[in-house]
Amino acid sequence: MTALKERLKRLIATAGPISVAEYMAQCLLDPEHGYYTTREPFGKDGDFITAPEVSQMFGELIGVWLYTAWQACGAPEKPVLAEIGPGRGTLMKDMLRTLARLDPAFVKKARFALVEASSRLAKVQKATLKEAKAAAMPQWYACVEDLPEGPLFIVGNELFDALPIRQFVKTKSGWRERVVGMDENGELAFFAAPGSLDKTLLPADAQTAPEGMVFEIAPAREALMDAIAERLRRQGGAGLFIDYGFRRSATGETLQAVKQHAYDDVLANPGEADITSHVDFDALMRVARGHGLKCQLMTQGDFLLGLGLLERAGQLGAGKPADMQKAIRDAAERLAGPGQMGTLFKALAVLPENVTVPPFP
Ligand code: SAH
Repeated sequence: MTALKERLKRLIATAGPISVAEYMAQCLLDPEHGYYTTREPFGKDGDFITAPEVSQMFGELIGVWLYTAWQACGAPEKPVLAEIGPGRGTLMKDMLRTLARLDPAFVKKARFALVEASSRLAKVQKATLKEAKAAAMPQWYACVEDLPEGPLFIVGNELFDALPIRQFVKTKSGWRERVVGMDENGELAFFAAPGSLDKTLLPADAQTAPEGMVFEIAPAREALMDAIAERLRRQGGAGLFIDYGFRRSATGETLQAVKQHAYDDVLANPGEADITSHVDFDALMRVARGHGLKCQLMTQGDFLLGLGLLERAGQLGAGKPADMQKAIRDAAERLAGPGQMGTLFKALAVLPENVTVPPFP
């Protein structure tokens, strides 16, 4: 049994069941036993591989997008170039290398920032950038509210999927909050809490949903988008958020645990498996639009191909041995291929109403 599981069981035995959001929050960010606070999740030896870890091309193209967004916003003075939820720091490393080649003067005048909730991962990011002799050293911040003043150009990859969600479940007597409690064998299990729910939280298809159907909302995600959008409206700039998820809010369960590159039971290994859920982009866009910002969504495949992924792959492979060329082609396929990350993953641009940044139409 994991150390966190033991503690959660004690907590539930004395205080009663906890919400799915509380369970997720403890699993991911508990200071002592949390997944992001204690483990090295990324890469072949970890539990999963993210796009920046698949290929340097991902960070390069995103660096170009953020730079283009800065220009499209009128190349304002004192830009803040930020990443939120930077993992190992690979995306920032690849962006900085690209920006330093594209426009060294920009790198001199921009302030670079990383927003990271885990101090352990912040150390890993610092080491990555030092080792790469990055053209600029970012400052670290624990939350968006702490970022320095100025027009903000911010990217987040696989950030929102890692934020806690609440789940509701349809029972015989209507929709109920889903909670984590203990079954008769003393094992963690899902239950439906007593007490009816605020109907305004439920989507249009909730009424006709069959018994057992689950619906997810993510107040923590919406609060984070709210903070980012409020900042973008007040001081200008643009945001780009890439994640797996769906376009339209709807019922259905997407909570999942991943350990060593395989799906795991969500309740089996708290603190030792990554726990995420699919992002409801509809819900995020409603929040950002509420601040008068323009939201545009496209699949990761269309986004990367539109930014020139294939051309970049050709350039990188030119003159290299055949096996390296194949590895580069495979990486491009993995990032943009429809059966791979190309369609499930989406790119969301959050922009001032009058600004357009290709490849968004
Ligand atoms: N972007 C990276 C890592 C994705 S994992 C990549 O693509 O490889 C999610 C990251 O978000 C981790 O670095 C985690 O510590 C961080 N994180 C989780 N919740 C956060 C929050 N509320 N604010 C900032 N970072 C957060």
